[in-house]
Amino acid sequence: MPRAVVIVNRQAAAGRDRSSRLSAALTVLRTVGYLPEVRTTEAPGHAVELARDADTVPEDLLVVAGGDGTANEVASGRLRAGPTKTPIAVLPMGTGNDLAHLLGTGDDRRLLAALRGRRVAFRDVLAVETAADGLRAAMLFAAVGFASDLLRATTPRVKGLFGPRLCYSVGFFRALLRHECPTLRVRVGDRTWDEPMVVALAGNIAHAGGGMMRVAPGARMDDGEMNVSLIRATGRLEVARQFLRLVRGTHVSHPLVRYFPATAMEIEGTPPQSVAVDGEVLGHTPVHIEVRPSCLPFLVGHA
Ligand SMILES: [Mg+2]
Repeated sequence: MPRAVVIVNRQAAAGRDRSSRLSAALTVLRTVGYLPEVRTTEAPGHAVELARDADTVPEDLLVVAGGDGTANEVASGRLRAGPTKTPIAVLPMGTGNDLAHLLGTGDDRRLLAALRGRRVAFRDVLAVETAADGLRAAMLFAAVGFASDLLRATTPRVKGLFGPRLCYSVGFFRALLRHECPTLRVRVGDRTWDEPMVVALAGNIAHAGGGMMRVAPGARMDDGEMNVSLIRATGRLEVARQFLRLVRGTHVSHPLVRYFPATAMEIEGTPPQSVAVDGEVLGHTPVHIEVRPSCLPFLVGHA
């Protein structure tokens, strides 16, 4: 019988108890013919190791039971392990479940259909490399600048108080109160920009923040490209005024925004800046980000 190695992060969803959801998921896995093996994470970053070392064969399934942060760690571990044919199934059990929704496994009905259909698709991964954190995968986005402040300001308390849809908007305005634009040196091919910026972002998908913000309109995880947006420095009030355009994705036509496709990008910060990868803040600049086309297999349903 094929195995389902289930990597569980019990701290996901700001620590809300999801044990009944997990046992329901294990029952479903058995029903569709997998033998579940649960491996629980013990600390941040542990899922990277668990996923890297999971001794799976192509018929098995690697299951993420957590949020976008846990999915990121699992994808990072698989990226480090090298080419694999074992599909990754993402169960939505976190605060932001953007990846699960994109893969078409974002609710129980579609997850069950995807498990029954065993439809697998290879998706692009952004390979993000920093000196401190080594190689990480970004499934959603990688960014330097305001994105890290926003994620730090979206504390577990904010997540608990405002819930998955609103917490990132609250984080946005909390972060803005203290925000200073760093000077970033961004290189894409033979082009270089060296100036204060609000953010430099590489998008693998269109939406972030629990689906709230359309940070990279038109971005797809199957086109072999990342969507780069570079937002030139401006005042806090102007950033606040642009919030609704960011939600709608119309900010990319703003004169302060450069928005274009690319396959690789290098970012340095003065002083060094932390790097936001999916929902987590990791490492610091300099960072190299590049697209690995059709890199990891995922269980997919109908989105
Ligand atoms: Mg793309």
